[in-house]
Amino acid sequence: MKCVICRGDDIVKKMVDEEIRIGNDIVLVSMELLVCNGCGERYYDQRAMKKIEDLRAAMKVEGLPTQAVVGKVYRAYAAS
Ligand SMILES: [Zn+2]
Repeated sequence: MKCVICRGDDIVKKMVDEEIRIGNDIVLVSMELLVCNGCGERYYDQRAMKKIEDLRAAMKVEGLPTQAVVGKVYRAYAAS
């Protein structure tokens, strides 16, 4: 498999923190994805996509995992 972005062929399975964005909140989910070592592009197979969608659906019903906060999201404005 070749990377569609950088054309490199150094694509490996890696544990990464995937960010699921829900409104203004971000939930980090550790999961195994194919990642290009050249440019960092992530490739999602059907299983990964389903996992993310299932988690998103579950969090809509059960709420966010607020007992495990790892950081906050801030907003800054770039000078024009
Ligand atoms: Zn690449």
